[in-house]
Amino acid sequence: MTLRTIAPAAAVLAFASLLGAAGPANIQPPGPMPPADNQKLAHDIFRDLVQVRSVHDIGTKGTADVIVRYLKANGFTDADIHVAPETKYPNQVNVVVRIKGKGKGKAVMWICHMDVVDAKKADWTPGLDPYKFTVKDGYWYGRGTSDMKDEDAAVAASLIRLKKEGYVPDRDIVVAFTADEEVGLEQDGPQFLVQHRKDLVGDVGLVMNPDGGSGEIKNGKRVDFAIETVQKTYMTFKAETTNKGGHSSEPRPDNAIYQLADGLVKLAAYQFPYKTNATTRAYFASRAQQSSGQHKADLLAASKEPLDNAVAARLAKDTSMNAILHTTCVATMLKAGVQENALPSSADATIQCRVFPGESAAQTQATLQKVMGDPGIKVSLLEPVQPAPETVPDPKVMTTVAGVVHDMWGKDVPVMPVMMAGASDSIFTRAAGIPSYGVGGGWWDVDDIRAHGRDERNNPSNFYQTTEFTYRLMKALGTAS
Ligand SMILES: [Zn+2]
Repeated sequence: MTLRTIAPAAAVLAFASLLGAAGPANIQPPGPMPPADNQKLAHDIFRDLVQVRSVHDIGTKGTADVIVRYLKANGFTDADIHVAPETKYPNQVNVVVRIKGKGKGKAVMWICHMDVVDAKKADWTPGLDPYKFTVKDGYWYGRGTSDMKDEDAAVAASLIRLKKEGYVPDRDIVVAFTADEEVGLEQDGPQFLVQHRKDLVGDVGLVMNPDGGSGEIKNGKRVDFAIETVQKTYMTFKAETTNKGGHSSEPRPDNAIYQLADGLVKLAAYQFPYKTNATTRAYFASRAQQSSGQHKADLLAASKEPLDNAVAARLAKDTSMNAILHTTCVATMLKAGVQENALPSSADATIQCRVFPGESAAQTQATLQKVMGDPGIKVSLLEPVQPAPETVPDPKVMTTVAGVVHDMWGKDVPVMPVMMAGASDSIFTRAAGIPSYGVGGGWWDVDDIRAHGRDERNNPSNFYQTTEFTYRLMKALGTAS
């Protein structure tokens, strides 16, 4: 995920992922784990995936080969496995594998991206190579150990376990191991599959994306289990000014940098209108259960319509809550001037927005233009936008996931839908009209975020629980309800 992002409960809204991104803690007692042989298999797949540098420029052929090798060595045949390189980008290879069911209901599909954000050995702690699976202090280190090769291995090992059991689900279980999520858009695997390989995924009626939602740990305690059902839309704009420039020895009142800065100062002070949707209302209602006093009252009020602006403003004092209460736009990069002794002839700022679902790029651009309040500042969209509708939480799916969570980690774990500020492949499956749920099986300490960062790691206990959770969820969702 462009950073796997977890529920804002613990203020982790990067992306994604961020989510699952944080260092796992060894919560005692651990939840159930797979049998020893399946643990070994899952570990080996995990190790072999991490040691492949599957970054955007190289593609995912190497990781696809690892997956196919393990599937074939464990009972899957060419009839079950489809290797799908992208027509325009053949180095971006996807693998689609299926366990046939009894035809009761549309297929359920797991989407698992195999690519990673690159990492340099020089940036990591000496002795830790991002593309070596290193065991140290009870942790497994390596790029992708939390985003998301852990989930790739957990899903592959669980599918093999079902196959070995001769399990025949009521509906088909499909897994798509996919390419290029971290850079996304034109080379994105799930987008390619839903648009160009309907022969492989056209009958899918439900998507599980482990690159989203998961368990959150704060101060060594399990806080909640988040299921991601909607994402804000990722949009980036440019705001630019131009000027005739001139010699810096004779400055004039008109100046490209000052003009842009004036607009940016106005933007900094602007708050987009507060909003909620089905997911965030359900989230606020669930969080209220664990709160007290004014905060509880505000969360309860925000879980109902219409939203009271004063309540929203109070909640928005918390950075993570603020990110799910409305669109946010922030200046992230600045460029201006060509030489120190020349008045700048242009200046431009990059404005990165996470837009509340349902708000369009044109609307957001118009608001930015209006807020900056100067026709001399030209606002333009930098990249094409992929909007995606909310997956309104289906009680049947939510109950099924919650049932597995409670079986694994106890009935007192709050399970709730969340909106993600980061982006994941679910935007493509949702845009294709498939209800999609971000459900990873890991538990992450939100104060130790490492996805996309240095010294990324996971630990055996968390990883094996993730694998057991995935196996149980596949069975639970494979059974027609
Ligand atoms: Zn990811």
